[in-house]
Order: sequence, then structure tokens, then C-alpha cells
Amino acid sequence: MKLIFLGPPGAGKGTLAVKAVDILKVQQISTGSIFRAAVAAESPLGLKVKAIMDAGALVDDETTIALVKERLAMDDIQKGFILDGFPRTIAQAEALSGFSKIDKVINFEIPDSGVISRLGGRQVCRKCGYNFHAIYNKPSKSGVCDHCGGDVYIRDDDRPEAIQKRLVVYREQTEPLINYYRSKGLLVDIDATPMVDEIVMNFKKALGI
Ligand code: AMP
Repeated sequence: MKLIFLGPPGAGKGTLAVKAVDILKVQQISTGSIFRAAVAAESPLGLKVKAIMDAGALVDDETTIALVKERLAMDDIQKGFILDGFPRTIAQAEALSGFSKIDKVINFEIPDSGVISRLGGRQVCRKCGYNFHAIYNKPSKSGVCDHCGGDVYIRDDDRPEAIQKRLVVYREQTEPLINYYRSKGLLVDIDATPMVDEIVMNFKKALGI
């Protein structure tokens, strides 16, 4: 199964993707994680995208499309994949249609207030990517991941100014993809506000599994 997870930052795409990967036995491809790994490694790509990411802006389409095209050419995606955070512009969606055929687009619906409260408290494991929250889901030991012992930190782009910017960017550049995919008959809406177990249930129902 080839899926796109579409929705604003903080909608829970990454959290559901981790569960869905287990259920569907497919690969999660998160462009944000790939870019963060490049930044951590201080690779040429990382040096190019760091300031853009910290400001909450989008990396240019050419760079992002090339990255995903290369990733989707790898052998491990035979059973399918979940694109988490790609495409984010119409140009990216058009390019993607040239090298992959998507089965469904899951649209995570959440109001801005929900995004702000989730991202405002988000803490992420640097090693395994697990998401914690300063109020709703604290790590047992501050700064240490319960799952892998990795370092838990606050992403630079989860600071208040960057959150606002990312929301504006989402509404302006990414939200038009909802109608784009709806008109192709691929869109499935999911209420992203309940707790994760309920979202998983609704996700399975939406896919008929
Ligand atoms: P995410 O983890 O999906 O919230 O992505 C973090 C940051 O990575 C975004 O705010 C962008 O700066 C960059 N990024 C991730 N995916 C894309 C994309 N498809 N197009 C452009 N920039 C992206």
C-alpha cells in the first residue's frame, strides 16, 4: 500500500505512521526526519537546509523532490510506504505523480489551537524519533527516552515563532493539496484530535483492514 499522510505540523502524522508501519509492514518515509538527520550529520544537504528548517519555512521543491525520488527508487519499498510530510506543495505532488502511483491520501484534520498545544509541548527522542509531550506524555526520566534511552530534546522548529510560521506555510502552500487529492478521489479524512488508539482504529476502518 502506498499512502500519503497529509496534515498540519503536530497533527500526529508521525505518531500514527509509526503504528501504521507495524500494521501494514511498509516503510515510513519522513522528509522532515531525513532533513534532520542531514542537519545532525552536518552533511552538505544538512548545512543547506538548517536555517530554512529552524525558521519553519519549506526546503525548495527541487531539493525535496530529488530526495524523495531517490528514496522511492530503493529496494525496501516493494511492499509500499507511507510518505509522512511529503508532498507539501502542488509542485511536489505533480512531480510525485510522475514517479509513483499513490493508493490513498490520509488527511489529518485538526484546528490550529490543537496544533499549537501539541507542538508547544512536544519533546522528541533524537535517536528513535518517539514523540513525548511536556504535559500529556512526559518521559519517565526528564530528557531520556523511555523506549531507547536516547536523548529527548525540543526541536528548534517547535519554538513559538517557528510554530506560527509553519502553520502559515501549511495553510498557504500545503492545504491546497486537500482539494487536489480530493478531486482525484484519493482523499480520506481522519479526525486527528482524539487519543492515538482511537485514531489507529479510524485509520484501519478507513482502509478497510
Ligand atoms: P516535519 O518533520 O515534517 O515537520 O518537517 C520539518 C521541516 O523539514 C519542515 O518545516 C521543512 O522545513 C522541512 N520539510 C520536510 N518535508 C518537506 C517538504 N516536503 N518540502 C519542503 N520542506 C520540507
